[in-house]
Amino acid sequence: MPSQKLSAIDEATRAMVVFTDLDGTLLDDSTYSFDAAREALDELRARSIPIVVVSSKTRAEIEPLRSRLRNEHPFIVENGGAVFVPSNYFPFQLMAATAHDQYHIVSLGTSYPRLRRALKEIEQELDVELRGYGDMPVEEVVTRAGLSRQEAELAKQRDYDEPFVVESERCTLDALTQAITARGLRWTKGDRFHHLMGIQDKGQAVQYLIECYRRLADHHRDRLITVGIGNSLNDLPMLKAVDRPVLVQQHDGSYEPDIELPGLIRAPGLGPIGWNRAMLSLLA
Ligand SMILES: [Mg+2]
Repeated sequence: MPSQKLSAIDEATRAMVVFTDLDGTLLDDSTYSFDAAREALDELRARSIPIVVVSSKTRAEIEPLRSRLRNEHPFIVENGGAVFVPSNYFPFQLMAATAHDQYHIVSLGTSYPRLRRALKEIEQELDVELRGYGDMPVEEVVTRAGLSRQEAELAKQRDYDEPFVVESERCTLDALTQAITARGLRWTKGDRFHHLMGIQDKGQAVQYLIECYRRLADHHRDRLITVGIGNSLNDLPMLKAVDRPVLVQQHDGSYEPDIELPGLIRAPGLGPIGWNRAMLSLLA
């Protein structure tokens, strides 16, 4: 590990926040367990360092997981589609937020019905099969994503991002990209699926929260250090937005080859194992 320890910074004037991807990063790629990261999670909790979940998962999927993590911090859903901030979390009013349930919600993404229409248009235009979550019965999501039936039902409750697979070999990524950008949309590659989405990305949503945490740190005259940790290309905008970007190993032991950043920490270990080691090392 390169020497990226934070101990050089005066403890008394330091505030830290950790932004983390879930699948294949904090959660094991196949079991979806975060057990291997427990030691670092406990240490972060002991130091009152917020962990912000930043995922392609939906609100319905993240909420139960957040309870299991005993996490009461903001979270980011569907690849940056929206930021959920618990009411009264920050001692100031949030820009562009709508109060709903127990949250202030900042919507950054394109609506799901528009994404679904675009996917089906592109399918016809390119004469290929693009199967989105909206086309898949629950059983198919269970098989393709390795989720339980109940989890798959929660994963289908989408608002801002459509995971899809390309079923035809003759579909080139260039043609796909062109058809998507022509509609003012974009796509990214996640762990198991491509994701069709609006112009939002994890980075914009993380940036929004960094501004909030910075304001809070300024108020306490702390210096804010931001950490981001991910495993796939859809994490790149998040990793670009933070001071300390961390990449964990993918299930085959490799690191996402298309992520290159100055100061990038390549954590030794798959998913939550790498997560645990990188965090403990940053906190040492
Ligand atoms: Mg991931």
